[in-house]
Amino acid sequence: MAEKKVPFTKQQIEELTKKYPTPFHIYDKKAILENAGRLQKAFSWAPEFREYFAVKALPNPSVMKLLKSIGIGADCSSYTELMLCDMAGISGENIMFTSNETPAMEYQKAKEQGAVINLDDITHIDFLEQAAGLPELICFRYNPGPLKGGNAIIGNPEDAKYGLTREQMFEAYSICKAKGVKRFGMHTMVASNELNVDYFVETAVILFEMAAEIAEKVGIELEFINLGGGIGIPYKPEQEAVNLEVLGEKIKEKYEGILASKGLKPKIYLECGRVITGPYGYLVTQAVHEKKIYKNYVGVDACMANLMRPGMYGAYHHITVLGKENAPADTVYDVVGSLCENNDKFAVDRKLPVLEKGDFIAIHDTGAHGHAMGFNYNGKLRSAEFFLNEDGSFEMIRRAETPEDYFTTLKF
Ligand SMILES: *Cc1c(COP(=O)(O)O)cnc(C)c1O
Repeated sequence: MAEKKVPFTKQQIEELTKKYPTPFHIYDKKAILENAGRLQKAFSWAPEFREYFAVKALPNPSVMKLLKSIGIGADCSSYTELMLCDMAGISGENIMFTSNETPAMEYQKAKEQGAVINLDDITHIDFLEQAAGLPELICFRYNPGPLKGGNAIIGNPEDAKYGLTREQMFEAYSICKAKGVKRFGMHTMVASNELNVDYFVETAVILFEMAAEIAEKVGIELEFINLGGGIGIPYKPEQEAVNLEVLGEKIKEKYEGILASKGLKPKIYLECGRVITGPYGYLVTQAVHEKKIYKNYVGVDACMANLMRPGMYGAYHHITVLGKENAPADTVYDVVGSLCENNDKFAVDRKLPVLEKGDFIAIHDTGAHGHAMGFNYNGKLRSAEFFLNEDGSFEMIRRAETPEDYFTTLKF
C-alpha cells in the first residue's frame, strides 16, 4: 500500500493563501517532468516514439509548454484546444487532431496548423476533402468492436460511437491511397483509467496485426501506430500504478514479433493525459463549516465545480489534512461542497483526522480531468491554478475567475 503524500506543507499554503484564497489547484512541475520522462524512456526502443499529451486532461498552455520542453506533443479534439497549441508554440506534426462529429472549421484549422489528422469515420474522407482538402498524411481511428472487451469508463467498443470497423479500415486506406494520400497512421483508444498492463498489450497486438494485414492487403506501410491513452492512475492508496517499464517492454516484444519480424517499423505514439499530470495535481481547499446531523459533515470552500469526478463517477480522491498528516484517521466524515446538489461530495464516510474549521485540505490526483471539467453551475467560479516549482515557490498559471468573468457573456 503506497502512502499518498503532498509535496507542500501547511506553512507553504498558509503563506500562499495570504494573497490567493482557496480553493485552487497546484501542479507539481518536477514530478510531472520526471514521470513523463519515465514514459518516454520506457518506449525509447520504438523508432521516434512520441507522446501526445491529451490536452483535455489539463488544458493550460503553461503545462503544454512544460511538456513540450521534453518533446511531448499535444492531442487535441476541438477548435479551442487547437488554439491552445498556438499559444504553447506547438505546431505541425507535434499536434494530433483526434476528434469526432467534427465541424468543418476544425478540420480547416488543424490542416492549417499541419496537425496529424485522425479521422473518426470513413465518411470523413470526403468531408475533410471538401472542408480543407486531403493532407499528405492521414490517420484512422480503429474501433475493434467485438475483438476487445470493455472498460468501465469508455464501455464496450461495440457500443462506443468512435472509430471505424475492421472492414472500413481496409476500405478507408484504399480510398485514400487512390486519392493520392502518401503517408498513413493508425490509432485506437479503447480504455480509460485502466490499470491492467495486459489490457494495453492486447490492444497493441490487435493494432500490430492489423497493420501487418494492411501492409499485405492494401500495400501500405503505416508510418505510425498510435496506441491511444487511457493509462490509469492509483487514486486509492491500495492500488498499484501501471509499471511503465513493464508496459514498454511487453509492447516491445509484440512489436518485434508481429511487425519488425516482417520488416515493418512504424513509429509508436501514445496520447495519454491522465497518467502524465493526474497524480501531480492537488485541489487545495479550506474547511469552513462542520455540521452534525445524521452524519458528520465538513463543508469546504471548493465544490463539484472545481472537481467533478467524485460527484459524477463516484470516484475516490484521497484526502490529506495539512498539518495532520500523522494524526490518527479515526473520525468518519462526508467532505462536501456548497452546490445545491446532494452529490456535491468529495468524500463519503471517509476516515480522517479530527477536522476543525480553518483546516487546509488537499484533495489528491486532480491534475487530469480536474479543473478541466469545471463548470459554473450555481454561479460558482472556477479556481486558480499554480505550478509548484522545484524551489518550493508557487507560480500562477491561471487566475481565479471573478464575477465579471461570469457575467461577461450576458446581454440585457
Ligand atoms: C481522453 C482521450 C485521451 C486521453 O485519455 P487519458 O485517459 O487521459 O489518458 C486520449 N485520446 C483520446 C482520443 C481521448 O478521447
